[in-house]
Amino acid sequence: MSAPSRPAALQAVKGMNDLLPPESARWEWFEARVRALMHRYGYANIRTPIVEPTALFVRGLGEVTDIVEKEMYSFEDSMNGDKLTLRPEATAGIVRAVIEHNALYNGPLRVWSHVALFRHERPQKGRYRQFHQIDVEALGHAGPDVDAEQILMCRALLRDLGLAEGRDVRLEINSLGQADERLAHRAALIEHFERYSELLDADARRRLHTNPLRILDTKNPAMQQMVEAAPKLMDFLGAESLAHFDGVRAVLDAAGLPYRVNPRLVRGMDYYNLTVFEWITDHLGSQGTVCGGGRYDTLIEQLGGKPAPAVGWGMGIERMILLLDAMKIAADGPAPDVYAVVPGPDALAAAMNTCESLRAAGLSVQMHAAGAAGWGSMKSQFKRADVSGARHALIFGADELARCEVAVKPLRDAAAQQRNLPLAAVADWAASLRNA
Ligand code: ATP
Ligand code: MG
Repeated sequence: MSAPSRPAALQAVKGMNDLLPPESARWEWFEARVRALMHRYGYANIRTPIVEPTALFVRGLGEVTDIVEKEMYSFEDSMNGDKLTLRPEATAGIVRAVIEHNALYNGPLRVWSHVALFRHERPQKGRYRQFHQIDVEALGHAGPDVDAEQILMCRALLRDLGLAEGRDVRLEINSLGQADERLAHRAALIEHFERYSELLDADARRRLHTNPLRILDTKNPAMQQMVEAAPKLMDFLGAESLAHFDGVRAVLDAAGLPYRVNPRLVRGMDYYNLTVFEWITDHLGSQGTVCGGGRYDTLIEQLGGKPAPAVGWGMGIERMILLLDAMKIAADGPAPDVYAVVPGPDALAAAMNTCESLRAAGLSVQMHAAGAAGWGSMKSQFKRADVSGARHALIFGADELARCEVAVKPLRDAAAQQRNLPLAAVADWAASLRNA
């Protein structure tokens, strides 16, 4: 007789990843440090929908950008025909929410979010179609102090993660000035690119007269030399923009944070002005930018809000985890304190109640449970206990339970002896473990 045929297994969408244990523990380790950092810097959590009106991104990011031109997952709501998009970046949605809820009414706002983003890119190491960011925004502050605060925040996080700024990750900054300054630069830029028109790729040729600044953000190696030689926006900045840039630099200098001024740094969205920055690593190949951000003083008004300045950054979580891997930084979650070995159903009630009181006392407890093939031998349960990383096994054997006791077997300390513990004393034992 042939085996009954199973339906074919489905696979995840290309470029979209599952996150399973034990890898997920590394993410939780990272996220715990992020959460603590946000608290220390006074940033509150904000969460906005994954789906937004397509117009939000077209208006917010600029029509002639990689994201809007070719990377958005857009679709029509099959019920009412609304044009919708899976968010490709975090800032536009947060700004929409802040405007919609008049959240700047009582003054400036510092917020952060953990977001899933979607871009139809060519998947490769460090570049996916669903990816995740820690996103940080400060809305309503005009001064360079907040730009610098956000850059220093990144440094503090890198340090908390065990990464060294300067060695593992370096900082690049630039100023994009204001719209009128970019306009003056634009003419010089077009003239430069026209002189090398035979070197321009299709994207660049199309953008030459619509958005020449975008050409500076090209990833095409054949165009790098020409881009390097292009007129620098920095040379077109007026006194006010330069003063803002100097203000940022002064704080970074005083904080002893080294950086490189990169006059080609423009970032991928049109909404940026004045300060832009990126944190870059040499350990991840061409996907080396782990964090990018800058000021976007006109976006709130552009999206229909009362004009207010703002600055923010986004950090790619996948790339940060890859970097932690590359630097061999141990980032595993804590193992359970106790693995409960349960020989069979007769011991279940006592084991369950004991585990509950251990958990109530603050211990992490993994209790053995029957699999499809039954409870498993003691030997196989001890193997599981070992793999779990638990410090102790609690063994609910029939003899011990008959005496209202449980056996405690230390798993990580070869010198320590197994002993019996009265069930009435497990809460005290849990407390002594926690205080150890
Ligand atoms: P890149 O130049 O590498 O395409 P970007 O300028 O498009 O990055 P941003 O939109 O500024 O990136 O997003 C900030 C961060 O998010 C990046 O520095 C990177 O760490 C991460 N990131 C961007 N796109 C992806 C992606 N497709 N997959 C994984 N991480 C990404
Ligand atoms: Mg990109």
